[in-house]
Amino acid sequence: MTHLMDTYKRLPVAFARGNGSWVEDTAGKRYLDALSGIAVCGLGHAHPRVTRAIADQAGMLLHTSNLYEIPEQERLATRLCELSGMEKVFFGNSGAEANEAAIKIARLYGHARGFSRPSIIVMESSFHGRTMATLTATGNRKVQAGFEPLLTGFLRAPFNDVEAVEKIAQNAGEVVAILVEPVQGEGGIAVPAADYLARLRAICDAQGWLLMLDEVQTGNGRTGRFFAYQHTDVMPDVVTTAKGLGNGVPIGACLARGTAATVFGPGNHGSTFGGNPLVCAAANAVLDALVDDGLIERAGVLGARMLEAFRTRLAGNNRVRDIRGCGLMLGIELADPCAALVNEGLAAGILLNVTRDNVIRLLPPLTMSDAEADLVVERIVGLIEA
Ligand SMILES: *Cc1c(COP(=O)(O)O)cnc(C)c1O
Repeated sequence: MTHLMDTYKRLPVAFARGNGSWVEDTAGKRYLDALSGIAVCGLGHAHPRVTRAIADQAGMLLHTSNLYEIPEQERLATRLCELSGMEKVFFGNSGAEANEAAIKIARLYGHARGFSRPSIIVMESSFHGRTMATLTATGNRKVQAGFEPLLTGFLRAPFNDVEAVEKIAQNAGEVVAILVEPVQGEGGIAVPAADYLARLRAICDAQGWLLMLDEVQTGNGRTGRFFAYQHTDVMPDVVTTAKGLGNGVPIGACLARGTAATVFGPGNHGSTFGGNPLVCAAANAVLDALVDDGLIERAGVLGARMLEAFRTRLAGNNRVRDIRGCGLMLGIELADPCAALVNEGLAAGILLNVTRDNVIRLLPPLTMSDAEADLVVERIVGLIEA
């Protein structure tokens, strides 16, 4: 009997080691990894540069607390700001914590504007995490059910619906911010209209609201830009990220610019582990590899190649309703619920995910070779046609 709480329905397989785009289970069977631990291992498994950075830092200093200066954290914040155009960074340990920081920034910003009950617009089918504030922000009743009372201070609009947000703006009350994913990941790889963020930015500018982007999944090069908003001319006020930033070492970051960058003062927020020397050394190595090896551009090229291959190979397939993506976030929506494909994938030697019951979600490593990407397409098409 397991002594683990029953929070995950786990697949009956455990992995012993990984290398690049491949993992090997405890029985020695090899699997092509088209999921990257849910968009975490963007550099693949056992990336030498990350391994070395972690080992070197572990031999020097793991943790000191944020009571002291942490040069690795300073360097990481500077790198993130250079890559994003943001100005200040707070480090936590997960995506949910990064979003908690953003929500707290919005509330402080609201109080500074004289609102005693500031509220944030969030979207349907969104996912922002499992803490009480972030599950309240999440647009999925399954994530919320049983945890009432939820927090107050959140208003909901349909995703990719600017008019719905404009309608809220006409009677805005104490709204202070919009929190939105540039591409919804858990929500089924939902890619909004190309001008969606720009139109939200315009509303935020007119209303004095903060535009806060949840790039926990889309960030760190996954879509072919460092952040997904960099496909547009839009600059957000707040950006959160996590998953791919540490390649498996737990780290989250909340970035801000302008007024939003200066609302926190000493004592407003904190984290014991956040941004410690170990995780920052790992994340610095991740950013070095992403930039030096051209992996951000590579994600765009490889994603386009895979999207095109899927569209060609699956054209006319009755089971396929839609094929969509942005860089290396790929979604294949089927006409039927397809959770069983996960197990069939294991048998066929490929790791994939199914979200929203009928969307095959692929989040391959950015380091994948063309041949490996073609093999992903081959195996996924085989599973769909089976
Ligand atoms: C995964 C995810 C989160 C939550 O991250 P955790 O590290 O699990 O807390 C939040 N937002 C988005 C968009 C995510 O994909």
